[in-house]
Formats: sequence, C-alpha cells, structure tokens
Amino acid sequence: MRTLITGGTVITMDPATGDLAHGDVLITDGVITEVAARIDAPDAEVIDASGRIVLPGFVDTHRHTWQTQFRGLGADWTFADYVVAIHGTVKPHYQPEDVYLANLAGRLEALNSGITTMFDWFHAARTPAHADAALAGLRDAPGRSIFGYGAGYRTTDHIDAEVRRVRAEVPDGGLVTMALAMRGPGEATMDMVVSDLKLADELGLRTSVHVDGLSGARPIGELFQHGALRDTTTFVHANGLDDDELRMIADAGASVSISPDVEIKMGFGWPETGRMLAAGLRPTLSIDDCPAAGGDMFSTMRTAFAAQRGLDGGLRSRDLLEFATVDGAEACGLGSRTGSLTPGKDADVVLLRADDLSVFPFNNPAGTIVTAGHPGLVDTVLVAGRVVKRDGVLTGVDVPALKARLLASRDRIAAAAGVAVDGTWRP
Ligand SMILES: [Zn+2]
Repeated sequence: MRTLITGGTVITMDPATGDLAHGDVLITDGVITEVAARIDAPDAEVIDASGRIVLPGFVDTHRHTWQTQFRGLGADWTFADYVVAIHGTVKPHYQPEDVYLANLAGRLEALNSGITTMFDWFHAARTPAHADAALAGLRDAPGRSIFGYGAGYRTTDHIDAEVRRVRAEVPDGGLVTMALAMRGPGEATMDMVVSDLKLADELGLRTSVHVDGLSGARPIGELFQHGALRDTTTFVHANGLDDDELRMIADAGASVSISPDVEIKMGFGWPETGRMLAAGLRPTLSIDDCPAAGGDMFSTMRTAFAAQRGLDGGLRSRDLLEFATVDGAEACGLGSRTGSLTPGKDADVVLLRADDLSVFPFNNPAGTIVTAGHPGLVDTVLVAGRVVKRDGVLTGVDVPALKARLLASRDRIAAAAGVAVDGTWRP
C-alpha cells in the first residue's frame, strides 16, 4: 500500500535532504520510500498537504503518563508538594483501571499534538496488575511508545522477577517496546543501582534514570567509578551536575532529557541546555508530569528555547526542533526507525496548518513552529504510515466515552484520597 503526502513545505530534519519549500513524501507499507520536490505515484492514496508543514513526529523522552487525571492541579506546586500530593496522597488509591485510562488518554493526547514517540516513565506499579494495565493503555493507543518500567518512586523493592515477567510479554521490534525505568543513585544504594543495570543488560533493555547534583552530590561520578555508565541510558533532568560529569555522559555515548517547564518552576534549577551542548551532548525534551506542565512539545520547545537564549543567545530554533525529533529518537534507541523524514525510516509524520491565522504568514518554518506553534495546528498525524489523526480529529477513537471514563476515575480517586480537584488543593 502506498501513500503520497503531496504539496507541503517539508522539513525533513535529515541533513542530506534539508527543507523543501514544496515537496512530496512517498510511503510504502508504512516506510518512507522517497522524499523529493515532486514524486509521481499514480497508484498511491493521496494526502493533500497544500497549506501544510510536513515534519517528522515529535519524541517525548520522559512522561509520567499515569498522572493524567490530575492535569493542571500542580501548576502552583513545588516539587516537594508534588511528591506529597501525587505519590503520597493519590497514588495509593489508583486501581489498575485508573492507570489504564490515564495511559490511554495521556498517550492519545500526546498523539493528538504530534508526539508520535513517547517514553512512558511508569512509577505507579502498586501491583503487577497495575503494570499490565499501564502497558495495555499504551497498546490501545496507536502511537510508538516505550514502556519504562521497573522502579517505584523511591522504593527499594526487589524488582527482578517482575521486570522479567513483563519483559517476556514485550518483545523488541513492535510499536510498543520496553525499557528499564531505574532508581538512581539519589534514590537507592549503589549496589541496587548496579544490580538494576545488570538486569537491564541481561534483558537487553535500555535504561532511563532521574539524576541531579543539586545537593552537591556527584551521581554520574559515582556511576563512572562503578563502571555503570552505558550508551543505552538516558539521564533525566541532570540539573546541577558538574562539567566533568556532563562530559562523562557524553563520552559514554549516553543521553539526557530535560523537562524545562517542570525544572524551572518546581525548583530543579535552570535547564542545563547550554552546559550540555558545551559538553558535547544533544539534549532531548520531555513533558515530565502533566499536573504541572502542558502535554505538548510546542510549549516544551518554547520554554527550553527561551530559557537558554536568555542566557547566551547561541541557541537556534532549529536546534530545538532537532532536540524534539532526531535527538529524541536517538536517545530512545530508535534513531534508525524514526525522528526524521528519511527513506528507510518508518513514516512517523505530522502535518501542521501553516494557513492558520495564529501563524500566518508562515515565513520561517522552524522559527515559527518553536516560537508560535501549538497543538491546534496539528492537522494530520501518521505513525508507521497509519493515519491516526486526520483533518484535526483522532481516527477510530471514541473521545467522549473515554473522557467520561477518565472523569469518573478522577472523581473516584479524589474522593478516596479526600482531595479537591477545583484548584484549591494545597498539599
Ligand atoms: Zn520524571
């Protein structure tokens, strides 16, 4: 089956092809087979992209999707408030069904705004049934997702048997894959961190771990001393690390994920974008938690851009698009499959409405997307060639029914936890 996306402004994010002011993308059986100014494919199904910007789907490298029910409630919280409220107060009342609905609705929301690849950093596994439900929520949304599983939040439970169980259910190569979401040196003993890494090595899993050096700790230095740095690890946040630690991450071939809204607002310190670049790293971007931040990549790029431009002026809007696409794909181990419009890669494609009044006239594609883009521009989304959103509407999803179930779930958890959901809750 062939699909031709035709007549759009194509931002490939592939240096070999660059941008095409007017171009076509040909997809054959879910894979991009040609990108050119004009392609003849008379047998292909046509998606008219005139008045549209065509670009690769975004990659969110770290999101705690299970918190979707409590969207917006953490706008005024500190990180300490968040820990008490979300992990201490509502999480104990989550049933597997609640996790399922949060992951399904949260994943669909991300797809709706053009995030075709998302790393679900899951730390609400009160029971194995919760983990199964989280995975099922991702699988019931037609996105490319990585189920990051393993660590509870600041738990010291032994997880090996449970991780092995889930790993056996999630083979590599599909749209939903698995990684080990690990406890870091700040949350567990070094023995436990090393043991988790060994488990990941044995099971062939990539790893993701929260780290910071805010209290003067040197988590990366410690990992280095224990031979525990891998090119398959993504370090989340990484605020306050020393310069030599950032270089250790770069030298190991590992990656970083910054969550600019959450980091600035909740007391993690300023995003380390500039220092990471100076150390030879390409940051990737993440939403982190939807109670405190919006779920789309446009606002995330914008905050990261403004935060760093204000410091030294060296960053370009194009860099942000790279962080949000190719660099994110590399950090997820998916650089050969997604992140750019390159022949041979899976067709994860987004069409934006360049004719929308909010961005019209659309003079500078990369700059306009980063400084003025928003989810309302997302017209069409394809994942591995499958159209999951068309003409501004998610396809094959009963959104009203899902919203009703999500509201009932939110109300049940809130009642059980004794908290208000009208914005008056102060942890
Ligand atoms: Zn996080």
